[in-house]
Amino acid sequence: MNQAPNPPQWLDPLSLPSGEVMALGRSRLGVPVAQALAAYKKVYREGVREAAPWKADLPEVVRTLREESSEGEVVKFVCRVPGRLADGPAAPGDLAERSLEIESVLIPMIGSTRQRTYTLCVSSQVGCAMGCTFCETAQMGLIRSLSPREIVAQWYTATHVIGLRPKNIVFMGMGEPMDNFENVMAAINILRDHNGAHVPASKITISTVGRVDGMRQMKERLHEPGLHRLNIALSLNAPNDAVRSGLMPINRRWNMSQLQQELIDWPRYGGNKICLEYVLIPGVNDAPEHADEVAAFMKPLTAGDGSKARAVLNLIPYNPRRSSPWPAPTEAQVEAFMRHLFSHGVFVKRRRTKGREMMGACGQLGNEEIRQRRLVQLTRS
Ligand code: SF4
Repeated sequence: MNQAPNPPQWLDPLSLPSGEVMALGRSRLGVPVAQALAAYKKVYREGVREAAPWKADLPEVVRTLREESSEGEVVKFVCRVPGRLADGPAAPGDLAERSLEIESVLIPMIGSTRQRTYTLCVSSQVGCAMGCTFCETAQMGLIRSLSPREIVAQWYTATHVIGLRPKNIVFMGMGEPMDNFENVMAAINILRDHNGAHVPASKITISTVGRVDGMRQMKERLHEPGLHRLNIALSLNAPNDAVRSGLMPINRRWNMSQLQQELIDWPRYGGNKICLEYVLIPGVNDAPEHADEVAAFMKPLTAGDGSKARAVLNLIPYNPRRSSPWPAPTEAQVEAFMRHLFSHGVFVKRRRTKGREMMGACGQLGNEEIRQRRLVQLTRS
């Protein structure tokens, strides 16, 4: 007698790379492996949310904000996630019972071929524990970390709900990725899958506030197949320890000379560069002597023969957070600081401000209603 096939067991494609299909095998899937793989591709490539055995439940998009920039439309989208996950991290206290919001931003860029591409700035946490004084997200404190699927869902929403497939992904949204390192790496491995989103590691950047323990973990992972060109960016933001400790409490745990040493030792693969981010805040870190100090910090990071810069400084004019004590810098202040850096031979790129009006620019993501300022321990050690 023929047995009726088992009904398919729904699996979550946002939580699993396609390789897991093989491991799960036919018996658990309820459909042939080849069919499961074809369906996985369909989910990622065509945006079909339900193709047995896969079912992609996306967080609801609660707001989409758009703002014109010189290179195209910046799109910020806000998704609702639960305060508590069945098998994941929960928000503290009454926040666990609420739904929370995470923010992601699609940033247009016009390249040398005049083609417009998008970079997706993803969040890795709801809020952040790092307490950087210039940052809107810091005002929330850390509420909880995101699961791999919640990180991957931001790419899926950008591509298949908003309809703008990003070329690059940067972990520069809400949260410190090194505080949620394993989930960030699990999400990257799902995003890299050539049967799925197929975003190469060379197009993904993890930005850190300077958690040296996390940087060391990341360095180890670069030896894994397919990960060696994963990029790192360091939020430097200051010329010396005194200024940096005032802006970024993490600097009291790992100072600039420790950070510099980590970057000197960073593996060189395929000419990829280390990006240093520098939020320029008038009257705080924009003096000519500050530019001298930044150049001195970067000097050992350039190629030994001096032929090409290994580190690039990304200069970001400060975007005032809500109730900010500082204004945005003027054009003249930004130009003057850049000139000083150029005079030292520093390879510097200016980040054009995009999305400032809708609080979607760098350092401006956050939820005004949540101001709990709960800081967790800075280190795991
Ligand atoms: S700048 Fe980044 S690390 Fe610092 S508080 Fe904001 S989100 Fe956290």
